Amino acid sequence: MTNERRSVRSQCPYCGVGCGLEMLSPAQAGQAVRRDAEGNPMWTARGDRQHPSSLGQVCIKGATVGETLALGRLRSPLYREDRTQNFAPISWDAAIQLITQRIQTSLRTKGPNSIAMYGSGQFHTEDYYVAQKLLKGAIGTNNFDANSRLCMSSAVAGYSRSLGSDGPPCSYDDLDHCSVAFLIGTNTAECHPVLFQRLLKRRKRNAGSVKIVVVDPRCTDTAKAADIHLAIAPGSDLALLHGLAHLVLLNGGQDQAFIWDHTDNFDDFSNVVSRWTPSLTAQFCGIPERDLREVADLFHRQESVLSLWSMGVNQRREGTAVVGGLINLHLLTGQIGRQGSGPFSLTGQPNAMGGREAGGLSHLLPGYRVVNDDDHRADVEKAWGFQTGSIAPAPGMAVWDQVEAMERGELDLWWVVATNPLVSLPDLDRVKAAIQRCPMVVVSEAYQASETAYYAHLLLPAAQWSEKSGAMTNSERRVTYCPAFRRRYGESRPDWDVFAEVGRRLGFEHQFSYDSSAEVYEEFTQLTKGRLCDVSGLSHQLLAEDGPQQWPYPAGSTSTTAAKRLYEDHHFATPNGRARFRADRPLGLAEPPCETYPLVLTVGRYLGQWHTMTRTAKVERLNAMHPEPRLEIHPDDAAALSIEDGCLAVISSRRGHLTARAKVTESIRRGSVFLPMHWGFNQIQACEANTLMHEQACPISKQPELKACAVIVAPAVSVVKPIEQNDGMVKALKRLFK
Ligand code: SF4
Repeated sequence: MTNERRSVRSQCPYCGVGCGLEMLSPAQAGQAVRRDAEGNPMWTARGDRQHPSSLGQVCIKGATVGETLALGRLRSPLYREDRTQNFAPISWDAAIQLITQRIQTSLRTKGPNSIAMYGSGQFHTEDYYVAQKLLKGAIGTNNFDANSRLCMSSAVAGYSRSLGSDGPPCSYDDLDHCSVAFLIGTNTAECHPVLFQRLLKRRKRNAGSVKIVVVDPRCTDTAKAADIHLAIAPGSDLALLHGLAHLVLLNGGQDQAFIWDHTDNFDDFSNVVSRWTPSLTAQFCGIPERDLREVADLFHRQESVLSLWSMGVNQRREGTAVVGGLINLHLLTGQIGRQGSGPFSLTGQPNAMGGREAGGLSHLLPGYRVVNDDDHRADVEKAWGFQTGSIAPAPGMAVWDQVEAMERGELDLWWVVATNPLVSLPDLDRVKAAIQRCPMVVVSEAYQASETAYYAHLLLPAAQWSEKSGAMTNSERRVTYCPAFRRRYGESRPDWDVFAEVGRRLGFEHQFSYDSSAEVYEEFTQLTKGRLCDVSGLSHQLLAEDGPQQWPYPAGSTSTTAAKRLYEDHHFATPNGRARFRADRPLGLAEPPCETYPLVLTVGRYLGQWHTMTRTAKVERLNAMHPEPRLEIHPDDAAALSIEDGCLAVISSRRGHLTARAKVTESIRRGSVFLPMHWGFNQIQACEANTLMHEQACPISKQPELKACAVIVAPAVSVVKPIEQNDGMVKALKRLFK
């Protein structure tokens, strides 16, 4: 498997940019050979110049990933009957028997909906695919959800409502051809840094002819580089988009022929935006009217507008509507399916896109199918070899539904795989109480001491990226083969392999008899035939030999025949081929500020940390970049609340309290404060920002509004910490794994 004399090409396992990495053994990197406990050499990463998505570029997280692969790993399955006990090692055979018995008992006593799995965009596509087959096919519940629910489900729903299907229409190549980059709700400089550098280079090379517009309540590093920064009030994004559409129409900037030939529902849309006059919009959003007019002019006077967004748009209780509002602007101006233009979502996780293709949310099936379509279910049941009616016709529980089911005592088995919801979900105290009502929590993890592992009964060691082979799809629909090039840590196994064994033990020997991940991938690709995300021409072998490929890639395709963008013929994926304007009315924040909680807390990410830090906290260089979470607060708010720069402050919402060191800065607008979301209770600098967040979600995408809640900030007279820390939780956690 491992040839230490050759470098290995793969996709970075962090963000959705999906940069190509070239992994070098110490001998190749000219270093003395150092080996980890498993005998693996310590591989180092550099940008892969042959990868078309990143062209050799890499950020500090990707560059340091080699340092994270062997530290703090889970070596063998661990089990405890109840949470008062410490974990003890058990065999894989016994572990899988426990899961199988639990599933069989639950099916007999409570039915399939008492079982749920929560997976991850860290999965390879093969892991996602076998998980769907196990839950939706063999067990008969659609209760599979993934952390894409917290990240991209509003984009999925928004594309589907406006264009007829999920699927980002654009390519990174469009960054090199746009004349305007409109970045809304995305701190691209920190969260998708390689793409942002590509955009800055494009502007530098074409001084004066490329403009960057950033819409964000914070003056992030992205906003600092903008030509125009619209620091809108939190929750006013849909009003802004309607106000821009209003101005485009007022100035006659619409593409009438495109609207006539390729869209529906224009009248309803124009009726809604007619109310968002420039003065009302500017006042509602808290921005100068002249800036609004200038950006509206860019939308219709410039040749090609590329809109980029991520969680600032998606994590809203009206996230799907905001995505629709953004796509409206592109339909209005005909800026879609053309070089350098279009609406383009930037995914958070490295393979959230592959998850969507494989059916990895509770309403989806493989090949961009949905569970509530009779034909789609029949296609999948037939391909999987299950009886008609095996797949339930109603969507399963999204992750917050799973939490509420645990609260009610309805969930018998919660299987969490490759993700850490005890840091990333909102209203964490409620999640902690709910999970304790679940009689069996299984956590499959590469690393041993995650916050979610603290609540597990059964811990399964997962082979991670570099130790298993599989495919990942990045934000521009490019699929990269990620080979196994290191020996697996301890007794760890790939997730797909564990799911398949559970399937076989449940009696579905034939359906789960895979010898390799290549076989799994082959089966998955055949289920995409004729669908928008057709990858029936791809295989592990082709990807390994020909390199990463963009879909659609039907059988018989080659790199040269594959299209760079969707909808170039302006035929959309709706039944009549026409895109649909959306006419949603802005609602604002689910929890607006009030007299008791006068500030809006927004959360986000730092360049050098990744999600809940299970990997990145192991890299000294990254920790040194961000030694602690800081509460950003505007000087006027700080003065009014007696908060001093560098001093501790208490942040309180309706759900709890936190302490963080204040950073008084004009980078945040008055009335808003900011915290990073990375630090869970397992970190020394614990600051569980999502404890403060509410769970209210977009009713269409079910994505929680993790971007805003109402808070009050006060100077800390003593260090207030979460109860768990006071109870010595960090120490307890460490003891558990001894
Ligand atoms: Fe990895 Fe994202 Fe950095 Fe690229 S930009 S190296 S994908 S973390």
